[in-house]
Amino acid sequence: MVTRKEKRNREKETNYFFEFLKIQKHFFKDLINNLKNVVDHRHQSYITYGPDVILFTMILKNMAGLKSMRNMSDSFNKDECIENVRKVLGLDSLEELPHYDTINDFLSGLDVHELEKIRTYMIKELLKKRSFESYRIEGKYWGVIIDGTGLHTFHEKHCEHCLRRVFMNKETGEKTVLYMHHVLEAKLVVGDMVFSIGSEFIENESENITKQDCELKAFHRLAEKIKQTFKRLPICILGDSLYACESVFSLCDKYKWKYLCRFKEGRIRSIFSEFKAIKEWEQSKNQNPLFWVNDIAYNARKVNLMESTMETEDGKTKEYVFITDIKITKKNAERLIAAGRSRWKIENQGFNEQKNNRYDIEHANSENYTAMKNHYLLVQITDIIRQLYEKGSSILKTIKKTAKEKSSNLLESFRTRILTDEDFSHLSKPIQVRFT
Ligand SMILES: [Zn+2]
Repeated sequence: MVTRKEKRNREKETNYFFEFLKIQKHFFKDLINNLKNVVDHRHQSYITYGPDVILFTMILKNMAGLKSMRNMSDSFNKDECIENVRKVLGLDSLEELPHYDTINDFLSGLDVHELEKIRTYMIKELLKKRSFESYRIEGKYWGVIIDGTGLHTFHEKHCEHCLRRVFMNKETGEKTVLYMHHVLEAKLVVGDMVFSIGSEFIENESENITKQDCELKAFHRLAEKIKQTFKRLPICILGDSLYACESVFSLCDKYKWKYLCRFKEGRIRSIFSEFKAIKEWEQSKNQNPLFWVNDIAYNARKVNLMESTMETEDGKTKEYVFITDIKITKKNAERLIAAGRSRWKIENQGFNEQKNNRYDIEHANSENYTAMKNHYLLVQITDIIRQLYEKGSSILKTIKKTAKEKSSNLLESFRTRILTDEDFSHLSKPIQVRFT
């Protein structure tokens, strides 16, 4: 048992910035090189800061829970911060950290594909490690949750790609238009962690389109990108009932993916009524909180449905119906229900966390649309390292802390302790990371 005093002492000794680097190095030893090598379109003769300085500073801003760019510039304006960044990046000299205007200029000109490539590098490294194999669905498929969310809302037109929604005041008949940016996310489920593997912005091609972009259209673009990036990765799409439709089923067939989606009556009525009829007949003989039917015919295919009755937090019961092309058996039924229900993680650990607790992704760090997208991708990149750091670092696992405390501890270490040569020799040694 660790006493409270021992705990306090251990905490005082801990250099959280160093712990963060340990995890970053363990999982992504080429990350810094990747940051250095992004294609930089700036005029080379005016450059003071390389892409690695800018991108690493942004990752630290996100890790440290600093919500605005101005906040970051103030917090990082310390010799210790500059020296730490110089050492981590292996630079001969670094006089200042980039000002937020410099960062936003850079991000406005950076092709979003560059940051997508860095995220792909990270995900591929994680899959190579084989430490997460036990989380595959049916020992084979990686669960990938798909969901969309709103990022920014404006009362005036922001750019030609804005989604528009018209609201009418019922009493006055007055119309107001909201301009919005939404994103569709694909997140890999790895136990308690969800890692972004693809982001597709839901956006109009131009102002003059007759039909606006929507989540399902964006899904087809996102799926194509994921297929091209992770060609042979066995994936099981976890979606809400919007995804329970022919176009998604046939896309999964084409890509050799599986699907496991929430299902609601209105989505495909014929399937639902057949399922209900079989259920009524069967359950007159046998009451079971978990019920499934395989091989319900739909178009040229067969689908499998299962329903589970579960108690909600307020003591009521709720029925969950899922549709899948994985054969349901007595052995796997409960695990499949659990996999289907893991979709809530994208709302909690995913969006809510990124909106309210961690990075304030609804706050626009820049007015420029490309920079907005790059800021979003930098949050997704940071969030992968952040989860590995919080769930994998032995010191963070033993000390219970809130999200705020974790980020402010990291910030304090970064601002007050300069990494020593000894720290760096430790960083080059391999470590063991366990997620239990
Ligand atoms: Zn816009």
